[in-house]
Amino acid sequence: MAPALFKLSLKELQDLFTQGDIGAFDIARSYLLRIGQVESKVNAYISLANKETVLAEANAIDTDLRQWRKTFPLMAMPLAVKDNICTQDLRTTCGSTMLEHFVPPYDATIVSRFKEQRYLLMGKTNLDEFGMGSSTEHSVFAPTRNPWNLDCIPGGSSGGSAAAVAADECVAALGTDTGGSIRQPAACCGVIGLKPTYGRVSRYGLVAFASSLDQIGPITKTVTDAAMLLNVLSPHDPRDSTSTKQAPPDYTKAVKKKDVKKLKFGVPKEFFSDGLDPEVERHVRAAIQELKNLGGDIREVSLPSTDWAIAAYYIIATAEASSNLARYDGVKFGHRAKARKDLLDMYQETRAEGFGSEVKRRIMLGTYALSSGYYDAYYGKAQSVRTLIARDFQSVFEEVDCLVTPVMPTAAFPLGEKLQDPLQMYLSDMYTISASLAGIPAMSLPCGFTQTGLPIGLQLMGRPFEESTILRAAYAYEQSTQWRKKRPPIR
Ligand code: GLN
Repeated sequence: MAPALFKLSLKELQDLFTQGDIGAFDIARSYLLRIGQVESKVNAYISLANKETVLAEANAIDTDLRQWRKTFPLMAMPLAVKDNICTQDLRTTCGSTMLEHFVPPYDATIVSRFKEQRYLLMGKTNLDEFGMGSSTEHSVFAPTRNPWNLDCIPGGSSGGSAAAVAADECVAALGTDTGGSIRQPAACCGVIGLKPTYGRVSRYGLVAFASSLDQIGPITKTVTDAAMLLNVLSPHDPRDSTSTKQAPPDYTKAVKKKDVKKLKFGVPKEFFSDGLDPEVERHVRAAIQELKNLGGDIREVSLPSTDWAIAAYYIIATAEASSNLARYDGVKFGHRAKARKDLLDMYQETRAEGFGSEVKRRIMLGTYALSSGYYDAYYGKAQSVRTLIARDFQSVFEEVDCLVTPVMPTAAFPLGEKLQDPLQMYLSDMYTISASLAGIPAMSLPCGFTQTGLPIGLQLMGRPFEESTILRAAYAYEQSTQWRKKRPPIR
C-alpha cells in the first residue's frame, strides 16, 4: 500500500486510483486508520460510517473494476457529508436533539449522485444545530475542534466538514452555506470552500434552514478538487424547483491557467472596515497584490449597502427558519416529549426539549419579525435592503469580474469566547452574508497564517453562475503561493 494516501488531494488520489496504482481497499483502509488516529481529538463527525461496510464496499469496487474497468470521477473517493443532508438509512441529526434519532427514508439528490459514482461515505459531519451558528459550538454532539489549534473553533456551521478535510479524515466534504457556513469554516481551517450561485446545486434532501439562502457546496484541499466536485453537484434536478436548467460548464476547464490576465478585480472598501483585524488585513492585501502580479487589473469599488447586510440577514434568515422549523411538532418525525398532558402541551414540551437555545432564539426573532404588526417594519424592510444589496453587486459587476475581500474579520477564535454573546458571534459573518443575500457565487481560499499559526481566508465573489471565473482566479493564486502545503499539527 502506498504510504499516507490520506494526505493526497482528490485529484491526486483519483489519478492513482484510475491508473490502477492503488485499489479502493487501500484507500478505505488508509482513511479509516487516519480517522482512528485523530477523530477523538477533532470530533469532526457526528456519525461515522460502519468500518466493515466501508471496507466491503471498497472490496466490491475493486472486484467489479477487475471485471469491467469502468470508473467514475468520484469512484472510491472517501467523502464526508454534513449532517443536515439526508442519507438513506443513516441518521441525519442536524446537530439537534430534535433529530437525534431521525433516519431519512431517502437520499438527497446529491447523495444519490455520489452513490451512483460509488463514492465511499466516511461519515456525517458536525454542525451548529440546523446550521445556525459560526463556530460549531451549537451542536448537541459537542463542538468540533480546529485541527490547527484544538482550543479554537473550526468555524461554522460546516465546522465538522472543514475540520475533517483539514485533518485528512476525508479527501473532500460537502458543506452548506446560508450566510457563510461553507466559506467561514473553510477560512478557519485553511481549506477551500465554495458556495455556488443560488440555484446551481439541488437542495432536494437538504434539511431547510432559510430556503431562499441555503446552498450546498464543496469543501476541499485544492481549487481543482472544488471544480471536480462542482461538476458532479451542478446538473439540474427536477426535484428542486429552484435548481437551474442552465447546463453547467466543465468547471475543471477553469483551473488550467496560472495567470489572471484580462481579469478585473474589485476591492470593495466597505469590506476593510473598523472591525477587521490588522493581521488579517495585511494578508488579504498581500493576496490582492499577488493577483496584480499575476496580471489582474485591481480597482477599488464600493458596495454602499454592505453595512445593513447583517441586520437584514438576521431578519430574513430567522423569519424563514421560524417557518421551516414549525414542522418539528413531535407528530410527524423527530423527537416527541414523553411527559404530556394534552396535544398543546405535547407541542410545547417537544419543542422545549428538542431545540437548543440558539435555535429557540432564532425562532422567536423570526416569529416576531413576521407578526402582523411588525411585518412591514422588519421583514418588509429587510427584503428591500436585500434588493439594494443585490443591485450594488449588479452595478459593480458591470465594471469588474470578481471581488476580493476577507472572509472573516479575525482568524479562528478560542472555543467559548463568543458563546455567551450572540451579537459578537453574528458579526463574524459580516463579510460572507452579502453574497448569500445576493445569491452570487463566492469562495474562500487560504491566503496566509497568523503569527500563532492560524489560517486566514481570502474571499472571491463572482457574477451569478460564473463560478468558473472565481475558480480560475483562485487556481492562479493557489499555484503561485505555497499555503496549501502547510499541514495542521493536530495537537
Ligand atoms: N453563521 C450564520 C448563521 O448563524 C450562517 C450560518 C449558515 O450559513 N448556515 O446564520
